[in-house]
Amino acid sequence: MTYFSDNYFQARSRWRAAANLHRGRLESYEIDAVAPSDERLTIDVAIFGNPAAQKVLVISSGLHGVEGLFGSAVQLATIESYLATQQLPSDLAIVMVHILNPFGCAWYRRWNEENIDLNRNFLVGDEVYQGSPPAYPSLDSFLNPRSAPSRLEPFLLKSLGLIGRYGMSTLKNTLPVGQYDFPQGLFFGGHAPSQTRKILTDHLRSWLGAAQRVIHLDLHSGLGKWGTYQLFAELNQDAVRYQWLSEHFGDNASLERNRLLTVDADDLVYQPHGTFGRWCQAEFTDIAYDFLLAEFGTYPMLRVLKALRAENRAHWWGKVADKSYQRTKQELLEVFVPSSPQWRKIALDQGLDLCLSGINALVKT
Ligand SMILES: [Zn+2]
Repeated sequence: MTYFSDNYFQARSRWRAAANLHRGRLESYEIDAVAPSDERLTIDVAIFGNPAAQKVLVISSGLHGVEGLFGSAVQLATIESYLATQQLPSDLAIVMVHILNPFGCAWYRRWNEENIDLNRNFLVGDEVYQGSPPAYPSLDSFLNPRSAPSRLEPFLLKSLGLIGRYGMSTLKNTLPVGQYDFPQGLFFGGHAPSQTRKILTDHLRSWLGAAQRVIHLDLHSGLGKWGTYQLFAELNQDAVRYQWLSEHFGDNASLERNRLLTVDADDLVYQPHGTFGRWCQAEFTDIAYDFLLAEFGTYPMLRVLKALRAENRAHWWGKVADKSYQRTKQELLEVFVPSSPQWRKIALDQGLDLCLSGINALVKT
């Protein structure tokens, strides 16, 4: 049996059924947007264990829409292979948040119903929803052509040309950082808080119950080496926390280095704005809150970028009936949730391991 589902509704109904069967308390939050089939979309939450527990493991999926078909599989596996058979310790609860961007998942997009990259929408303090990295405006015409995707276009040549012109590090520090000026473009962070953010603002605290200690695992895919994962933590140079998290989560034979990276590390791939993790930690300063973004690697970055760009063009300028529209959706799914049984097995095993490490880390706290 596979834990992977083909589409949002299949994933949701399997996950809800499993959560319900294994004593999860379910809540559903409808968003104001529909699926291609016109069906209503929801963010779903299941809480397992003692609602008064002081230690809480949060496992969230699908902040980036289509990636949710991977995260949902890990969540389902965690329910069916762990929660179905084990009693949680009385001071520990698990809060599972299922597909934070249901629109993106249902439409096979990374972005939400407003074209927002939700992991760039969580600005904090006096940050404003405007501005872009310096090189973004000059890359706009390449990244976001105002036409349906074409197979004939020399994407690779154009990309290599840009890498030659701007340098790889400029591109890496421009593309995924987040921008607030091009609402139809890639990596748009929004002009205001998204529906997902509002739902979290209103309810995350109540889902956490009496938590004093939280570890939050946010599941993603599409960045990094095939079949491996890395964890990104917002630690503000806190060496003690890094050490502790490293002991519980950092061990990594396949990457030959600690899998735990921090956003202030020099080797970080990019420095994004408006991340969900930073917001959670800013929102819950009264709770010892560790947020780990787990990135499961799939294909090389240029293939992923190519797929994102083509899908965005199809979304804005293509027609659903066009072959190219369907093809771009298929490819987007492939780059974020590869169909390879080998990838699915490795990624799922590691995802499950990560969730169990979360439980163990809290048990030992
Ligand atoms: Zn992601």
